[in-house]
Amino acid sequence: MDAGDLSSETLVRAAFHRIRTLDGTLHAILATDEARSIELARKADARLQVGERTPVLGLPVILKDNLHWSGLPMTCGSRVLEGYVAPYDATVVSRLIVAGAVPIAKANLDEFAMGSSGEYSAFGPARNPWDPSLVPGGSSSGSVVSVAARYAPLALGSDTGGSVRLPASFCNVTALRPTYGVLSRYGLTAMASSLDQVGPIAATAEDLALAFSVMAGLDPLDSTSVDLPGTERLARLQAAELKGLRIGLPKEYFADGLEPGVRSLLDTALRVFEDKGARLVEVSLPHTRYAIDTYYLLCTSEVSSNLSRFDGVRYGLRVPVPEGGLPEMIAQTRDRGLGDEVKRRILLGTFCLSKGYYDAFYTKALKARTLIAADFHAAFAKADILASPVSLGPAFPFGAKTDDPMSMYLADVYTVPTALAGLPCLSMPAGFTGGLPAGIQLIGPALSDVRLLEVAHAFQSLTRHHLETPTLSA
Ligand code: GLN
Repeated sequence: MDAGDLSSETLVRAAFHRIRTLDGTLHAILATDEARSIELARKADARLQVGERTPVLGLPVILKDNLHWSGLPMTCGSRVLEGYVAPYDATVVSRLIVAGAVPIAKANLDEFAMGSSGEYSAFGPARNPWDPSLVPGGSSSGSVVSVAARYAPLALGSDTGGSVRLPASFCNVTALRPTYGVLSRYGLTAMASSLDQVGPIAATAEDLALAFSVMAGLDPLDSTSVDLPGTERLARLQAAELKGLRIGLPKEYFADGLEPGVRSLLDTALRVFEDKGARLVEVSLPHTRYAIDTYYLLCTSEVSSNLSRFDGVRYGLRVPVPEGGLPEMIAQTRDRGLGDEVKRRILLGTFCLSKGYYDAFYTKALKARTLIAADFHAAFAKADILASPVSLGPAFPFGAKTDDPMSMYLADVYTVPTALAGLPCLSMPAGFTGGLPAGIQLIGPALSDVRLLEVAHAFQSLTRHHLETPTLSA
């Protein structure tokens, strides 16, 4: 595009063609507005023609459908928001548009981003492009599938406890969960506000860095926003020097339950680092075993509060109740509009926060969260970054975990601790086991996001796993 050989309009039209060809099977996309995207592409072409350059000018990008893109419907994968049209742009979306990226679609997700497989979408699940009988992972299922199936080079997801990293591992793409606060949450529909982060998704760390570079930075509209040091290094990402890098391996993450196929991929990946002079050191995160319980107490508590706004009065669905008045309208709207997993979390969270139980559950979980964060702090005295699995195994079949919510929650065992600690982490392709991809997770200290991408870029300069794409036909 820089050389003038390819226009944004051509690229965007090709993306829509690919979506039309493949999405009948993959079901990654919930909404598009083709005319509007073409118009944005033409604007980008005009800017390119006068010699303007930005890291994302003219590139198509796909947005998880819990991000506001003004004028398009936003469902959050829920019936309760049917009919709701976003009245404004999320900060991350407006920054992409200002830089000339072209949003082309809203992507499927687990309802309100609650889930690990994509199966809790009220509109039917997205499918894994490596094997459509398997889940793509969630909750940013459609965003990740869009990149894996090469609808677009960039997508945005959100990560509350693993929702960009787990599907990235299942679908062979690269995804970043930034340090808490680095990407604005303004316009991202809140699930659990102390955990939610927007996460960019791309084929490579280098591509991720391009999108990240135009989105990061203080936002006065998000009171938890922080400035990220080193963003000027993102637009031309350099591979980190691996010699002398201390890579910590949390011993609790390599214990029972990790599938041997994934374990051996990780060993091979770690050798790539070692061969270039990195040093592997064992570290311990002793409170790891409390992470799932802590996460699901805090997350559900925040969910019960955040989702009270979906009451039939302000947004989307309203079930008409001729008699029974307002309380009955609210009850029936929520009953009809919200799915089982969302209801389960609202009930559990309301219970955790109720008078008499608050100290026993919510306050205790907050204390455990502090201990989990302190574990990481101690580990970073011995190591520069940590490496770990992303998931216990590769993608699983549809229905394998939907009857047992606990087993679905356990899929997040490697991804929730970093979310509780607010740390930057990413998932990138590490290879294949039994024909299916699996990722490796890198974790850094707070605000080391740029460095983390540089280390990932170094790994991707030495390997080819991230270049493998699934064979797809209509
Ligand atoms: N799977 C986790 C959950 O269901 C994480 C979801 C997310 O990160 N949005 O809560």
